[in-house]
Amino acid sequence: MSVAPAALAEMQSAVLDWYAGNARDLAFRRTTDPWSVLVSEVIAQQTQAARAADAWTRFIDLFPTPNALAAASPATVIRAWRGLGYNRRAVALREAAIAIVEDHGGRVPDSYDGLIRLPGIGPYTARAVLAIAFNRPVAALDTTIRRVLTRAFTGDDDVPPRTFQALADEYVPAGRGATWTHALMDVGAAFCRARDPRCDACPLASHCKFLAAGRPPVAARGRAGSKPFRATTRWLRGRILDRLRDSPDGRWVTFDGPIGTHDVDAVIEALGDLASEGMLEVDDTGTGARLRTER
Ligand code: SF4
Repeated sequence: MSVAPAALAEMQSAVLDWYAGNARDLAFRRTTDPWSVLVSEVIAQQTQAARAADAWTRFIDLFPTPNALAAASPATVIRAWRGLGYNRRAVALREAAIAIVEDHGGRVPDSYDGLIRLPGIGPYTARAVLAIAFNRPVAALDTTIRRVLTRAFTGDDDVPPRTFQALADEYVPAGRGATWTHALMDVGAAFCRARDPRCDACPLASHCKFLAAGRPPVAARGRAGSKPFRATTRWLRGRILDRLRDSPDGRWVTFDGPIGTHDVDAVIEALGDLASEGMLEVDDTGTGARLRTER
């Protein structure tokens, strides 16, 4: 599954040359400060890139260093996370900042082992920070980059993850870890979409194994039977946190009725889950809650 050196060099050039003239101008790409990169990668997960860039600008203004975030209360951080969803990420990011301050002297670690031990930091984020902030030759494999590499470089959807990671690391051009990561993201976003990829305009078209094989159909990973969003626990958790964000620090809010289609038992259960994740405090009745304020 390795790519011959000459072909690999051509594919690397095709991606990097296209990127040189077509890179998306996203605010968080103008820095290689490790803390700023780490924050951007956490925010960008499951958030559209342009929205993530705006949110990152606001967030990094408030918390420009690990020390600044570590010193903030959970309530302050959850308020700053408004609109981004998956609020556990905010709490975990604050815990990562505390670990960076307490265990690493306030500097983001520059090793995979150091990064992966931080709360909320998974393999993708650890590798993305190494590649983008420290320009290491490692492949950060999120869904988009994995799709581009799988299709163009291997043409095989079934390579075991560990083997694929090793292959993907081999594909990184020497000394270009940061640019390579951004470039593959943009190729994926512009052309190599999950459904209906725009192969005719893609810079990898003349090398792509998936295209050469006639774009064989990929097994559908359907969403059949999925609930409307308002019926999900995620929607309910978001509404609870928004109500608490609108309440001043320290003031209890009572949740003694249904929210949307969720009955009061579901609301109370969601309050308990959010409390156990460190986002809020619940009073003895189980229906009163406030954002967690203690550091
Ligand atoms: S040629 Fe098509 S399938 Fe291959 S990388 Fe480009 S967009 Fe993806």
